[in-house]
Amino acid sequence: MEKTLYIDIILPLPLNSLFTYSVPKGMEQEAESGCRVLVPFGKSKLTVGLIVRSHDRKPDFNVKDIERVLDKEPVVTQGQLKLWQWVAEYYMSPIGDVFNAALPAGLKSEDGYRAKTETYVTLPENLRHEQSLHVAFGILKRALAQQKTFATYLNMSHWDTIVGDCPDEKIVEVTKDELMNEAHATAGVMRQLFEKKFLVTYEKEVGRLNRGGEPHLDNIKTLSEAQQEAYNQILFQFLKKKVVLLRGVTSSGKTEIYIHLIKQALERHEQVLYLLPEIALTVQIRQRLQRVFGDRLGIYHSKYSDAERVEIWKKQLSPTPYDVILGARSAVLLPFNNLGLVIIDEEHETSFKQQDPAPRYHARSVAIMLAQQFGAKTLLGSATPSAESWNNAETGKYGLVELDQRFKGIELPEIKVVDVKDMQRRKMMYGPISPLLLETMQQALAEGEQVILFQNRRGFAPMIECRVCGWVPKCENCDVSLTLHKNMNLLTCHYCGYTYPVPKQCPNCESDDIRPYGYGTEKIEEKIMELFPGVPVARMDLDTTRSRNAYERIINDFSAGRTKILIGTQMISKGLDFDHVRVVGILNADSMLNVPDFRAYEHAFTMMSQVAGRAGRKGKRGLVILQTKDVEQPVIRQVVDNNWRDFYSLMLAERSLFHYPPFYRLIYVYLKHKDEDRVDTAALEMGGRLRQWFGARVLGPDKPSVSKVRTLFIRKIMLKLETGIDIRKVHQCLHAAQQQMEEDKRYSSLQIYYDVDPS
Ligand code: ADP
Ligand code: ZN
Ligand code: ZN
Repeated sequence: MEKTLYIDIILPLPLNSLFTYSVPKGMEQEAESGCRVLVPFGKSKLTVGLIVRSHDRKPDFNVKDIERVLDKEPVVTQGQLKLWQWVAEYYMSPIGDVFNAALPAGLKSEDGYRAKTETYVTLPENLRHEQSLHVAFGILKRALAQQKTFATYLNMSHWDTIVGDCPDEKIVEVTKDELMNEAHATAGVMRQLFEKKFLVTYEKEVGRLNRGGEPHLDNIKTLSEAQQEAYNQILFQFLKKKVVLLRGVTSSGKTEIYIHLIKQALERHEQVLYLLPEIALTVQIRQRLQRVFGDRLGIYHSKYSDAERVEIWKKQLSPTPYDVILGARSAVLLPFNNLGLVIIDEEHETSFKQQDPAPRYHARSVAIMLAQQFGAKTLLGSATPSAESWNNAETGKYGLVELDQRFKGIELPEIKVVDVKDMQRRKMMYGPISPLLLETMQQALAEGEQVILFQNRRGFAPMIECRVCGWVPKCENCDVSLTLHKNMNLLTCHYCGYTYPVPKQCPNCESDDIRPYGYGTEKIEEKIMELFPGVPVARMDLDTTRSRNAYERIINDFSAGRTKILIGTQMISKGLDFDHVRVVGILNADSMLNVPDFRAYEHAFTMMSQVAGRAGRKGKRGLVILQTKDVEQPVIRQVVDNNWRDFYSLMLAERSLFHYPPFYRLIYVYLKHKDEDRVDTAALEMGGRLRQWFGARVLGPDKPSVSKVRTLFIRKIMLKLETGIDIRKVHQCLHAAQQQMEEDKRYSSLQIYYDVDPS
């Protein structure tokens, strides 16, 4: 008797295991690894899963038949499956979550994706002849609007030039919209023409993908001598190393070097993946790449509609994929077939690490794994590398190439520090703006130049406070104070999104003296409009960039000089390239330094150096005004002197001393439960179990700085592991401990999850 075929599939659920189903006779051929299947799951529900492998080992439980196979060809490559499995294992994230993160929604439902179609108009068969057209035209004499529309159509489609019977290929296709526009026809007129069968419609699939035009490889810029030298060095290092770090100061022309490297990869018929940390950045880089690579460039990120992402995904599986993919984090999960080079620009950026939900993966690490699968090279670029990459370069694991000259020898900006504490004592601040900043802004604007103001807090005010008793409203679901958003007149929780009305009276002492406290970007915008009436101001933060085109509009307006002052959060710190920015104001350096995280100084240093790098890119030397209450803070000095060598060597010495990355690996274990006592006991118990295996490598449990989110209480256990440790064994122990916890009835609705290599 023939054996039954079984398949193991991934389901889009936060579960670690694969699910086994049987394949009905006759379907065996179709059930190929990488194809999607429709399967019954739970109570009479059909779910889309992905076939990982097939086999003939009958499981010792009752298996169900699959409903049917959805694809004729695999939609996920074997390489992707392998990479996903690595991500799931390394980041201790369920494979179902990886599947969920990777696949666009349209590929996860049976018929979620619809090709975009457009309605075209044409003549019915019986009118496709010179004589019948004359007859039709005569009949329409009494309906002038219809006749005019009909005539317009004949003209646009070239039917009016037909003599006798017509060969179809002369005819130009016309969409319904085009015709309505051209003939100024109303919907009523169109309906009449369709009802009387003078015109008929048909649907045609149209691509949503951007059409970048012909590639123009000759548009590539000639590299300067220093850039050429760096380029040669990179190629030379690639002979020996899989990964090379390019440390080049802001505006040294790293992007131009990337473009040359991409061109070279394309000449070898290899694909390139170019990762950026922020969607905002794709706007500018896209324009620069498209000038050279035209429609060989595809763009992929989460602000694209799901249908577009499905189309790009499918194009990458087709015989004519994009040669260059420019994208944010999730682009590492796309299918590739011949990857030769991965570029990770601004490699130090923390947004490469996904925070929530799982998989909490670091796109830099995943990209390096992806490159390895293809034997491809990885280039990391940054002016302020991450501690990890810098250490890897110093120890020779990565190649290192340095570029210390800005293009055309433009100087790095001058950085002046303002002592805000002193200014406040002397009552000289204009709200968040010091007199020096105000004065330099006025000067720059008077000379037709631009200003960027950086404040890493969105909203109007980070909190409001009762001036009598000190009461601060907090979120009911989360352990955080609420942010005031003035133009919505609401208090918002930035953790759960919940909104609250602004109280008129303090519920504690009934005082009505409730005032905003601190400055968010929205309040700064208001203050700036007051200080600089009539000067066009733009704001770039999460709240102003919710729509996809918002980024493009804000960046293009500022580039073209239509706006003069740009206020923004960390979004503006990353690699944006503007020509006329004279002054950059860092309004509150302390908010970056006073963060309870071992990376706080690293982040503060890179963020300030990057923001400073936006000043004075072409022509004159720029000026940065750095406002702080803590002028003695060594990091401030190191930023001012651009003394990153000192900064890194001190930071690394400290990290080594206190057992932090890159010398130790960190895994955070999080526990969540709706009951605070329950989560406390659970965390203590989990900590105890882990100590049995890992001893003093376990720290905590502790309350994280935000210890309640969405009504769930959170506890955190930290694991500090030697870099040489057998990570598989670590995973096994953690999974075993988790399983023991999960089997304990007291902890029934306890959630346990991990953050591996937190950043
Ligand atoms: P980085 O990526 O290091 O910040 P960019 O590549 O953005 O630097 O270069 C900064 C500016 O200098 C850009 O406007 C870029 O077009 C210009 N530039 C850099 N190198 C060249 C070159 N070789 N020829 C012409 N323009 C260049
Ligand atoms: Zn009060
Ligand atoms: Zn909340």
